[in-house]
Amino acid sequence: MNRRQTFHTLLGTLLIPLGVHRVAAAADTGKPELVMSKAEWARLLPKSAFEVLFEEATEPPNSSPLNHEKRDGTYVCAACFLPLFDSATKYDSGTGWPSFWQPLAGAVGTKLDFRLIWPRTEYHCSRCGGHQGHVFDDGPKPTGKRYCNNGLALQFVAQGEPLPSLRT
Ligand SMILES: [Zn+2]
Repeated sequence: MNRRQTFHTLLGTLLIPLGVHRVAAAADTGKPELVMSKAEWARLLPKSAFEVLFEEATEPPNSSPLNHEKRDGTYVCAACFLPLFDSATKYDSGTGWPSFWQPLAGAVGTKLDFRLIWPRTEYHCSRCGGHQGHVFDDGPKPTGKRYCNNGLALQFVAQGEPLPSLRT
């Protein structure tokens, strides 16, 4: 086995249990997991949102109007509308992406991402698997976490407005 094969074997060992974890997280929310093909999502979503949510693209920094959103409310997954974050956990990280220090309970799953060679922790909607962003350990108290989210992957619902029905 050469070095490359060893790396891929190691990667497989790491990713298989994480995949199992994602399904378990969806079950924890009590909401049925929504399984749709990429082709179906591509038909339903604007191209820019599809590329972030289902191709793991990253929007340019400072491009999202949600960076400046300061009202009370809920941020829901732009694909399946599962509530992911409460505005009370949003803060200005200065990075150019909407940032939160904590997701709603059971709302996101995580996996290791090696796209930039060094590992980062990717997180996604626990219901539909739509990619949201990456989580880092340089956030504020009380969690110390920074959930760095693509604005294109979220929709904001102001307090007092009805949450959209979950997409089925
Ligand atoms: Zn979703």
